[in-house]
Amino acid sequence: MEEKPFTIESFYEFCSQGKLMGAKCLKCGKIHAPPRPSCINCGSNKFEWIELSKTGKIISFTIIHVAPPRFADKTPYAVGIIELDDGVRLPGMIKNVEFNELKIGIKVKVEFEEAVEKEEWPKWTRYYFVPY
Ligand SMILES: [Zn+2]
Repeated sequence: MEEKPFTIESFYEFCSQGKLMGAKCLKCGKIHAPPRPSCINCGSNKFEWIELSKTGKIISFTIIHVAPPRFADKTPYAVGIIELDDGVRLPGMIKNVEFNELKIGIKVKVEFEEAVEKEEWPKWTRYYFVPY
């Protein structure tokens, strides 16, 4: 059993180990990825870590043309909501795909990259999705 606190920092620490982890509410079973201070479903703050699927499908996406300064050199890029095979939904960047090939429902898998800067923000560049 993992004993890390249920924080965004822990979530990204797992990413650096190549693991996509969610915080499962011990009361109602809702899985949060990334974790939240309390359950959006029942308000409980008791969780356990569970490892999530590394594959899923795109359920929505947007092409970002205007980004915060730190991401300006990456524009345009695609972000989306991914539904993992275990049903958990989380936002992420989608890479290695032509924008005109992006579609709802295409299968993607998660990959990880080291943050270029320790203080990089938003930190969600540390995991992303690619079609497979
Ligand atoms: Zn709950």
